[in-house]
This record gives sequence, structure tokens and C-alpha cells, in this order.
Amino acid sequence: MEYRVTVMPGDGIGREIVEGAVKVIKKIEEKYNHKFNINYADIGGIAIDNHGTPLPEETIEMCKNSDGIILGAVGGPKWDSLKGEDRPERGLLNIRKELGLYTNLRPAIVYEPLKNASPLKPEIIGEGLDICIVRELTGGIYFGEKGVKEDGTAYDVLSYNEEEVKRIAVKGFETAMKRGKKLTSVDKSNVLESSRLWRRVVIEVSKDYPEVELNHMYVDNAAMQLLINPTQFDVILTMNMFGDILSDEASMITGSIGMLPSASIGEKYGLYEPIHGSAPDIAGQDIANPIATILSAAMMFKHSMGLPEEGTAIEKAVEKVLNDGIRTRDIHTDSTKLVGTEEMVSLIVKNI
Ligand code: ATP
Ligand code: MG
Repeated sequence: MEYRVTVMPGDGIGREIVEGAVKVIKKIEEKYNHKFNINYADIGGIAIDNHGTPLPEETIEMCKNSDGIILGAVGGPKWDSLKGEDRPERGLLNIRKELGLYTNLRPAIVYEPLKNASPLKPEIIGEGLDICIVRELTGGIYFGEKGVKEDGTAYDVLSYNEEEVKRIAVKGFETAMKRGKKLTSVDKSNVLESSRLWRRVVIEVSKDYPEVELNHMYVDNAAMQLLINPTQFDVILTMNMFGDILSDEASMITGSIGMLPSASIGEKYGLYEPIHGSAPDIAGQDIANPIATILSAAMMFKHSMGLPEEGTAIEKAVEKVLNDGIRTRDIHTDSTKLVGTEEMVSLIVKNI
């Protein structure tokens, strides 16, 4: 099969880590006999420099003409003085909106050889951790009416309609079906009307997925459970703001920001990027960890291209390299072998 991939390196370490993902994609092409037509597009600071806007029209067009999108990261000190719509980060927010990417998938995985990186006690992590947070990304309080009244009162409206909850709930259950068939829906339905709608619709959708074990949890309890008993979770389904907070909490449990991928998907498109930022402090030094971006490419194969075997091959190669004790600086310890970005990439490619 032939697939079109749009690649947006962005800024800072974006170029280095995305180059790693591209090498991995090329290896998959060769090994599995696919054809990936890779096109590069500008976004963020580099797009401001080259086109005067963080999200040029041609970038949007290219994304809309692709089967999968890989993004590095945007932003850096060079553009720090810019305001509002001119900021590099707007490029990212606006492309999510343009492409209707209402689902955010954030796996939080503690790999066995990296267990010591977690700030949680080993007995809490147990055999390791493998959670996936499914967060609603284009609705809720971040997108509701907001303002400041004459008397200085500020407000942000939190609202969801049935359709918005239904489509994200479906994604949640579909994700659970591909994993451990357990879904925890997180809300605050003891005090919020929008959460009561959320819970009602989730229960409605669950009838189509009788194999999935569903439970409900208030968000305050979920935040606590993530710290005291994180391995009880398989898929966590939640709305925009709760998901923002819980997914950062969950990623910190793994202790390794350079390791975690993410997917933002809608009906037609999927955008895949590491959870970390552009890390200008380490850009251009061949020390950035490329694994988060490489695992994002694995997610692209699974979720946007229907190539689960290819995605798993990448994940297995990453695990193998970690088991061999190979580490970039951010996850390095005394008893492991320190390598740079490029060497990490070649070892992963070699193991696919
Ligand atoms: P953003 O606002 O874009 O999210 P941030 O200020 O939150 O950015 P990051 O760019 O994510 O921060 O970086 C936070 C810290 O983690 C930095 O010290 C950075 O060097 C380090 N870091 C981030 N990504 C990686 C990576 N892939 N490999 C190694 N270190 C990383
Ligand atoms: Mg950040």
C-alpha cells in the first residue's frame, strides 16, 4: 500500500527527534514493502520565520492531504516576545482545531528496565504500568464562552452536548477493546451538570461494548488513585480539563518525559507527537531522547493506517534496546550505556 505522511519537525529538538522517526518509517517501508511518501511542512517558530505565521495555509493543506502526521515540537526563546495568535504554540492549537482532532490518546507506560525512574515506590508500580488516557480535546471549558464582567468577575463556561460526549466515549471504548477491555470514566457528577450528562452518555455508549468493564470515578479520587494504585487502570476516559491534568500526572508517574508519545485524532486525520516540548536547552547537541517521537510513529501506524503489526514492531525494537541497557542522557544511570540521539535511533532501526 501507498501512504502519505506529513512531517512537521517544528523547533528546538524537533528536527533531531523527527529525523529519528523518519528513519524508523523508512525502515518499516523497506521491511514491510509499503510506500510512504514523506512531505515536510513548517509549523511554529520556523513557520513564523519562513512564512510570517505559525500555521501557514500550505501546511494545513498538506496535513489534509495525508494519511498520517508526525510533529516534533514548537516554540523557543527566539519567539518568546510574540503575543497571542502570533505565538508558535498557536500553530499547534490551530492545527488541532482545523483538522477536528477531538480525541487525545496519551499512553503512560513504565517500561520494566526503567522502573527506577518512577517517583513512586517499586511496590506500587509492581510489574510495570501501562495506562492510556483518552482525553476530549476540542470542547469543554477551554472552548466555552469566557469573559470578564464590568465588576471584574471572570467566567469560563463548561458545556458539552450529547454528540460531543458520545463521539469521545466511542473512541474510549474502541481504545479499551484494543487493550485490556477496562474503562474508567472520570467526571465530577456529584457537583457538575455537564458531568451528569457525561456519565449518562458514557453508560449509553457502553451498551454497545458489553465486553468492556466500565467503572466511574470522580476526578479528585482519580488523581489520588493514580498515585496510590495506578495499576488498577487500563483506559481512563475524561473531558478536556480533567484529561489535561490527569495525563500530566500520569506521565510524571513514569518519570521519563522523553519516552512518551501521544496521538490527536478525529474522524479523518491523526496527528502524532511526543508529549514533551521543544527543549531549547538541549537542541542541536545530539542528546535528546528520540523515543517519544519514534513511539508516536508507532501510534500512527496503529491508529491512522491500520498497520498494527508495524506499530508493534517499533515498540518491540524500543523495548529491546532498553533491555540491552542503552540509554540517552535523560534516562541514563551508572549501570547503563550512554548514547546520543543518532546512535539511539540507529539501534532502534537495527532492531526492527
Ligand atoms: P513546552 O512549554 O513546549 O511544553 P516545557 O518548557 O514544558 O516546554 P520541555 O521542552 O518539554 O519543557 O522540556 C522540559 C525539560 O525536559 C527540559 O529540561 C528538557 O531539556 C527536557 N526534555 C524534554 N524533552 C526531552 C527529550 N526528548 N530528551 C531529553 N530531555 C528532554
Ligand atoms: Mg510543558
